[in-house]
Amino acid sequence: MLLDLKDLFAEKTESRPFDYSIDLSGISMNGVYPFVSPVRVKGEAKSLDGSALLSAFVSFDFSIPCDRCARQVDRHYGFKFSHVAVPYLENKDDAGELIEAVNGVLNLDDLIREDILLELPTKFLCRADCRGLCPRCGKNLNDGPCDCEDITKDRAAAGTLGKLIH
Ligand SMILES: [Zn+2]
Ligand SMILES: [Zn+2]
Repeated sequence: MLLDLKDLFAEKTESRPFDYSIDLSGISMNGVYPFVSPVRVKGEAKSLDGSALLSAFVSFDFSIPCDRCARQVDRHYGFKFSHVAVPYLENKDDAGELIEAVNGVLNLDDLIREDILLELPTKFLCRADCRGLCPRCGKNLNDGPCDCEDITKDRAAAGTLGKLIH
């Protein structure tokens, strides 16, 4: 969605609300497409001393395999973002804090997509203490221990026994 901010910059309009959805289903992360619902974007741009104060609340369903055990993690995320859009960026060092709306128009989809990708964690775990998979048999250790542990113990015991015999 292209947000026309010209009349907000000119202080002819006080506020421009928006409520729409962005489709991020084409974005892949770790080899999957985790945005399983459209991203709902709700907020407004407010005229503020010749600039525009943007606030948005985004919410969406997200589904990605756990980084440790590969079990599917289903989350619902809700993030709040705010930005100040200006008609012209005098000091390029302000980029990041301030957003330049070239010709008074801002591409809200691009901005929101960047916000979301920065806000998402870089690791996804089904739970903070996920035990992962057994490197030997591949069992999901969140479901309980596998038999490999016992084999290790048996071998250790056999090793001790061997030493005793020799
Ligand atoms: Zn896990
Ligand atoms: Zn195992």
